[in-house]
Amino acid sequence: MKIEAIYTRQSVDRIDSISVESQAEYCERELMGSKYKIYSDKGYSGKNTDRPAFQEMMQEVAAGKIERVIVYRLDRISRSVLDFANVIDVFQKHSVSFFSTMEKFDTASPIGKAMLMIVMIFAQLERETIQQRVIDAYASRSKRGFYMGGRIPYGFTLKEIMIDGVRTHCYAPLESESAVIRQIFSLYAQPQVSLGDVTEYLKACDIKNRNGETFNRFRIRDLIVNPVYVRSDYRIYHFFQTQGAEIVNPPQDFIGVNGAYLYSGGSNKRKSVSIGGHTLVLAPHEGIVDADTWIKCRIKCLHNQSVAKPMKAHRTWLAGKIKCGYCGHALTAKVGHRKRKADVRYYLCSHKYATKGDCDFGSLNANKVDALVFEELCDKLSEFTVLSKKQKPVTNSSVPRLQTQIDDIDKERQALVQQVSLANADLMKYINLRITELETQKKELYTRIYDLEQQQQIDVQEITGYLQTWDQLAISDKVAVVDCLIESIYASETELKITWKI
Ligand SMILES: [Zn+2]
Repeated sequence: MKIEAIYTRQSVDRIDSISVESQAEYCERELMGSKYKIYSDKGYSGKNTDRPAFQEMMQEVAAGKIERVIVYRLDRISRSVLDFANVIDVFQKHSVSFFSTMEKFDTASPIGKAMLMIVMIFAQLERETIQQRVIDAYASRSKRGFYMGGRIPYGFTLKEIMIDGVRTHCYAPLESESAVIRQIFSLYAQPQVSLGDVTEYLKACDIKNRNGETFNRFRIRDLIVNPVYVRSDYRIYHFFQTQGAEIVNPPQDFIGVNGAYLYSGGSNKRKSVSIGGHTLVLAPHEGIVDADTWIKCRIKCLHNQSVAKPMKAHRTWLAGKIKCGYCGHALTAKVGHRKRKADVRYYLCSHKYATKGDCDFGSLNANKVDALVFEELCDKLSEFTVLSKKQKPVTNSSVPRLQTQIDDIDKERQALVQQVSLANADLMKYINLRITELETQKKELYTRIYDLEQQQQIDVQEITGYLQTWDQLAISDKVAVVDCLIESIYASETELKITWKI
């Protein structure tokens, strides 16, 4: 059974503004007798549709629960013709009729339908005007050094457009790929889904990137933070504004259509990791992902910043430790791809390689260097295992054991909860007591796990244990071990100089 909805909105209490209560009264006179519900936003302006009760109503419209929406006046929905047209569009999709008491605007009547068409035509006109403004702004920006060059982002292809009488190109969604983009965003927008989960999902679906490779999580993160995909509306404007970005276009141009580019300050390079000090400009192309979903994903990435950084560290467990024997700058590991043969990792001087600095360092085979350092590590440790009489502290292997105990507690708690419905007073008392007890135990266990994880001091015996299974260790564990033992390594083609912490 569908219901009728009454929507009321009042921005501020003014003498001439009509209260939400009076608005509702007017609307109630127009009810047709079925059940109804009042959605009321008090203290919200009509400049956009970001209002809790309004959004709730729109969700129920989308769920097919509402047959008719009644308002006191048209501007209660929105002051923007565009927003209004978008809302009416949704109503029509879900066969919701719309009635406004003041204007006697009734979409169920022929004259109402005609008026609606006029509104929609004006909205379309406004949309096109804004689109043109966006394109003009983009063009004038391009002249000042912003450009759209480079690789076409995954999800898009190129189409020809005219900007300022000049034939040029802009992005257009490529259906096969933009479907993947939408899938990635809708998955990651769910709070419990991690980048790893998304990677796994794409792998399971056998979805590959343009080079025929599977997507890794870093690549996916790059996609997610790129505003080229979003259909930018006022929320996007607000988001980038609060993040400290300079925004080229005025807020009224953010109509939920265009994708955007984020440029880093100074250079023309597009930047995706942090936002502050960057410039956002609306792009001439249409975005793929709605603003709501995009922001959810973007914020998740903000809280998850560290994911992007260890890119380089993942290639070598000596990251941050190994330095150039000539100039002292960091060595970075690069992979040299070779046809038919296995790829080789090299260490290059970052000063020379990345910043074209003056340095005599050539290159070193990273596998050989790593093996050498590992040998040195084992030697160093063997000196110590003999001397060490330190008692073995609780190792991190206790964490899984504690975790099991927590699982047991959860199981017992669940079993208790299941008995609640059948319990008499005495049993109920016991259940309550026991649950409190279990909660306390659980808290203690969590504290112990936390302490263990904080305990960075790895003792010699434990490290020796690590070294025996070195090849199976995750890079992050190797980095942790190295950090405990090594201050720095200076490497050149002829020498490896390790400074120890122990
Ligand atoms: Zn160097």
